[in-house]
Amino acid sequence: MRLFHRILGMLSGVAFGSLCLSAGEPRLRVVTSLPALYSWASQVGGSQVQVDRLLPVDADPHLFQFRPRDLEVLRRAQVILLNGAGLEDWLKPSLEKQVPGSAKKIVEAATGYPPSELIYSDRPENESGSSGNADLRDGPPNPHLWLDPVFAFHGVTNILRTFQELAPEQGAVFATNASIYLQRLHRLHEDYETFRRPLKSPGMVTVHPAFSYLCRRYRIRLVGVLEETSGSEPGPRHLATLMEQIRVNRISTLFIEPNSSSRLALQLARDMHLTVAELDTLETSHWSPGGYEDGMRDNLRTLARQFHEP
Ligand SMILES: [Zn+2]
Repeated sequence: MRLFHRILGMLSGVAFGSLCLSAGEPRLRVVTSLPALYSWASQVGGSQVQVDRLLPVDADPHLFQFRPRDLEVLRRAQVILLNGAGLEDWLKPSLEKQVPGSAKKIVEAATGYPPSELIYSDRPENESGSSGNADLRDGPPNPHLWLDPVFAFHGVTNILRTFQELAPEQGAVFATNASIYLQRLHRLHEDYETFRRPLKSPGMVTVHPAFSYLCRRYRIRLVGVLEETSGSEPGPRHLATLMEQIRVNRISTLFIEPNSSSRLALQLARDMHLTVAELDTLETSHWSPGGYEDGMRDNLRTLARQFHEP
């Protein structure tokens, strides 16, 4: 994993230490839009950084309306940490309107990620007539990068740089924290690879187009997605194509999401005799420092159960 070793090499140039702020000294305040980012920022920042949620626990990060108390959290924050790749496009206009003149630092985990790595469509090949990416770049990319553990290396490194820039006196502590966390994320990635290795050509069908980057990373064919875009009801033509793909590819499991209320997904599973299993998109739950690893490992166990057990 070249990216991982490059990042660790970069970190090793920083003198590691165990500096501490004195008690009572103000900590860096960060507010963030996604549970994954909450975990990453908490792990890198440790006790030196206060991380708060921008969204209430069950709010959809694809679309959100500010309430007065959200604005208070925003006003207090020094860093607004976002995913980017279009996920929080709803935020920026209201941020400028409602928290004017604030000298906030807005940081996106996706900053600097190669544009060629972004996915623009989840349509299977025979539906779009191409690999799914061509001619679709006018629209926003699929934003669900955080579900790829290798992308997490990139996001964590962006967070580290930001914290070091804003609190340089704690730079060595942040680098030590990041290095330890990156090694755990690397083990997570290796465990996904270990799950994948014995499988010949696994195919997957999901409800919400969230797992495209995870599928690409671990060479799982994303045979189809029920919702063409997040939250949309599929049209009859899309549904017919999806059912055909499920039959042709002998898909036996439909991966839904916790709290998913898609009656259509459950109906589809019943009609086609599919097993239903839950994968968490980590969009609304797992707001804790260990939440990203816990959620990703729960998903790995679910995938292993569905693909390894006959
Ligand atoms: Zn989503």
